[in-house]
Amino acid sequence: MRKVYLYSSLGNQLQEFVPVVPGKVSIYVCGPTVYNDPHIGNFRPVIVFDAWRRLFKRLGYEVTFVSNYTDVDDKIINRAKELGISEKELTESVIAEFRRLTDEVGSLQPDITPKPTEYMEQMISYIDDLVKNGSAYEAEGDVYFRTNSDEQYGELSGNTVAKLVSGARIEVNSQKESPVDFALWKKTEEGIKWNTPFGVGRPGWHTECCVMISSIFHNNGGYIDIHGGGFDLKFPHHENEIAQSRAHNHNGLAKYWLHNGFINIDDEKMSKSLGNVVLAKDVVKEYGGMPFRLMVLNTHYRAPLTFSAETIAEAQKTYMKIQTAYKQAEVALQLADVDLSSLVPNNQDKFFEELCNDLNTPNAIAELLAELKRLNQALRTNPLDKETLGESFANVKDYLNVLGIRVKKTPLNEENKALYREYQAAKKAKDFERSDVIRAKLIEKGIL
Ligand SMILES: [Zn+2]
Repeated sequence: MRKVYLYSSLGNQLQEFVPVVPGKVSIYVCGPTVYNDPHIGNFRPVIVFDAWRRLFKRLGYEVTFVSNYTDVDDKIINRAKELGISEKELTESVIAEFRRLTDEVGSLQPDITPKPTEYMEQMISYIDDLVKNGSAYEAEGDVYFRTNSDEQYGELSGNTVAKLVSGARIEVNSQKESPVDFALWKKTEEGIKWNTPFGVGRPGWHTECCVMISSIFHNNGGYIDIHGGGFDLKFPHHENEIAQSRAHNHNGLAKYWLHNGFINIDDEKMSKSLGNVVLAKDVVKEYGGMPFRLMVLNTHYRAPLTFSAETIAEAQKTYMKIQTAYKQAEVALQLADVDLSSLVPNNQDKFFEELCNDLNTPNAIAELLAELKRLNQALRTNPLDKETLGESFANVKDYLNVLGIRVKKTPLNEENKALYREYQAAKKAKDFERSDVIRAKLIEKGIL
C-alpha cells in the first residue's frame, strides 16, 4: 500500500500515517452546531475531510467516518425561541439542509452522525467516572474538569496550565477551583435539560465530542486515527477533549490531529460583525456545488482560502472544461464501440503522490488538468487513438472519483449511437440541413 504522510497538529510535523488497527482508518470530524443556515466556512471541513476519506478508501483502507451534529447549545435554545418552534424542530430542519448541501458539494454522508441528545446516558456516566477518579468535581450543580490534574495538558496547542493561569482573568463569583478548569456539566433552567445525580442541566460541548468518540469506537478503547476540524477548534475544544480522554480512557483520543484553515471573503475574515457571511446554500444555488468543491480543493486544506468572484469564476471555468472533455471522450469511446467498464487506469503515480503528501489537492488538480490535456489530444487523433483515449479517460474518471468531483454521464444506447453516426456522416457530406436537424435532436437528448 502507498505510504500516506499527514501533518498532525500534535507535534506540528509531517508524519507517516500508521493506522491504530492495520487496514482500517477511523476519522472523527467536529460537525456544526445546528441552529441556522450553514455558511461556506462550515463546508470546508466537509469537503477536505471527505477528500481524505476518499483517498484512504481508494488506497484500500476500510474507513469509518464519523461527524456529529451538535444539537444542544444556547444558540439553539435562543433561535428556537425566536422562531417559536421546538429545539428539536429547529435542529432537525437544519440537519436536513446540511445533509442536502453535503450532497450538493459532492461529499459522502458520514457513516455515523451522532447527536449529543442521543448519547446522554453515556455522557452522564462518563462525567460521573471523572468525578469519581478525581479529575473532575461538582460545584453547585456544575461539574468542572480539574485541568491541573492532567500533567500533559497543553500538548496539542502549547497552552499549558501555567501559561493559562498567568494569563487568566479573575472570574468573580466563580465556583471553579482554578480559572482554567472547564465545564463538563452546566446547571441550567432554560431549554433542553436532563436530570442527573449532579443536578438538572446539560453537558459541555468539549465533553460531547469526547464521549461520542469513546462510545462509537469503544472497541479501540476510544482511540481513533484522525480527529479533524477547523483550526479554531484546536484550543480549547480539542485540547479539552484530549484532557478528558486521558483522564477517562488513558489515551490521547486520536493519533493524528488535522486542522483546516478558514475561508476569507475577498481577503477579509468572514464574520457576522463585518456582515460578509456567505451562506452555503446561496453559493450552491448561484455557482453550483461542484465549482465550489473545486474552489475549496484548489487551496491546500491547511492554508487560508479566499472566496471571491474571481476564485469561484475560475473554478466554474475549470469545471466546465472537465465536464466538456469528459463527455466528448465518453461519447467518442462509445461510438468506437469501446467497453467503458473494461478501461483500466495506468501511470497514476504523480497524482497519488501529491494526495499522499498531506492531501496536496491543488497539485493533484494540476495533475488532473494535465491528464485532461492528454485526453483532449487523444480526442483529436485521426484515426482515433482508442488506446490512449481509453487509458486517459480511465485516469480522469478515477481522479474525479477520488477528488469527489461529479460529472454528468452520457451513456449511449444503440439507437443514439446510430443517430450520432448519422450526424457525423451528414457533417462530413456537408449536408448542413440534415446535420442541423440531428444536432437539435442530440442536444435535446443531452448528448451534445
Ligand atoms: Zn468537537
